[in-house]
Amino acid sequence: MFRFADLLEKHTEEVATLETWDNGKPYEQAAKIEIPKVVRMFRYYAGWADKIHGLTVPADGQHHVQTLHEPYGVTGLIIPWNFPLLLYSWKVAPALACGNTAVLKTAAQTPLSALYVSKLFHEAGLPPGVLNVVSGFGPTAGAALASHMDVNKLSFTGSTATGKTVIGLASKSNLKPVTLELGGKSPFIVCKDADVDKAVELAHSALFFNQGQCCCAGSRTLVHESVYDEFVEKAKARALKRVVGDPFQKGIEQGPQIDDEQFKKILKYIRSGIESGATLESGGEQLGSRGYYIQPTVFSNVQDDMLIAKDEIFGPVQSISKFKDLDEVIQRANATSYGLAAGVFTQNLETANTLTRALRAGTVWINCYDIFDAAIPFGGFKMSGQGREKGIYGLSSYLQVKAVVTPLKHPAW
Ligand code: NAD
Repeated sequence: MFRFADLLEKHTEEVATLETWDNGKPYEQAAKIEIPKVVRMFRYYAGWADKIHGLTVPADGQHHVQTLHEPYGVTGLIIPWNFPLLLYSWKVAPALACGNTAVLKTAAQTPLSALYVSKLFHEAGLPPGVLNVVSGFGPTAGAALASHMDVNKLSFTGSTATGKTVIGLASKSNLKPVTLELGGKSPFIVCKDADVDKAVELAHSALFFNQGQCCCAGSRTLVHESVYDEFVEKAKARALKRVVGDPFQKGIEQGPQIDDEQFKKILKYIRSGIESGATLESGGEQLGSRGYYIQPTVFSNVQDDMLIAKDEIFGPVQSISKFKDLDEVIQRANATSYGLAAGVFTQNLETANTLTRALRAGTVWINCYDIFDAAIPFGGFKMSGQGREKGIYGLSSYLQVKAVVTPLKHPAW
């Protein structure tokens, strides 16, 4: 795994190019942000590989009790298209570090980078058969993996709807345990004492990063009434300045959406926002007439019962609403079936502590957003998922515990 990480680093340019061809994300984002994170993930879990061990347990009775932490054997890994290689690393690195073999299915939209880097993995000395990459469609290849009797563990990242299907297939076949990383509708809360300029910039990137196609996108921007007007004006100005275009060009912040289906879905949500009475501050339409480019769109005056405030849009559409006090914003932030992440912007320690403990989300970022080091656990509360990936917590998804009990003295049969 260390050798693979070195090779991947050396081939950053080709891999980032494949990622941009396949996905449309800015090349600079792939090369400077994502691939270094993939390299770090493999080094991080390579470091764990010889530090996984069980415990000696002081149980009642005259027995020596120990636990062995063992791999499952064959794991099935299913990933989406929004971060093809990054999510490959979130699954392959811990699965292999724990001693499993893996069959990974890429998303139908983005098969290239996983195939290419898996070749590098074999070049690094990985034995044949340890890592197997399958390109294919969800209802056929994905479903076959989820229902396979010889797959002992499944780890899935994708939408909540498909997560439900996959867990059903796993339970109907061999009851394989399933880790789920699913969708979100994460609140980004700007408190009255926040530095507005910094909050605007972070709320902007929390939503627009990766063309808005992030499971943890800060897609509900909730702003205290005392700074609301200033925030909306500046959020609009920032969106109008966003540089959208050919993802291979330097300085591009936003490329096209992944495909026609997502493109049309996002434009439909924008129309629904307008029709339901939200105020369109910027954008709202396709950008130009070629490709799946969408203007960075900002809505203000968004009400909680509007579709754009409830559904995962997965596009460059920021929805801003106003709140009055902390109790209200806690209740509204938690009033969703999702619970993936939350952002809090405040300079007050007490406010930060109150919100951190009250928010029902797997990650709370305070005065920052999208911090994704390999050591930080990630996963969802509620319908955003089950289990955790990354960090020390990610290991337990790929290990099963065996208790071994031995009498302290030779039993007198
Ligand atoms: P999706 O659920 O449509 O597809 C995800 C994967 O599942 C793909 O590989 C797909 O081919 C496969 N799949 C589809 N139907 C299947 C079936 N019946 N059986 C087995 N596999 C099947 O999701 P998507 O549109 O590719 O990705 C976007 C979704 O992923 C969003 O909801 C987003 O929030 C979520 N996501 C979550 C995280 C996270 O860490 N929580 C990260 C990234 C994306």
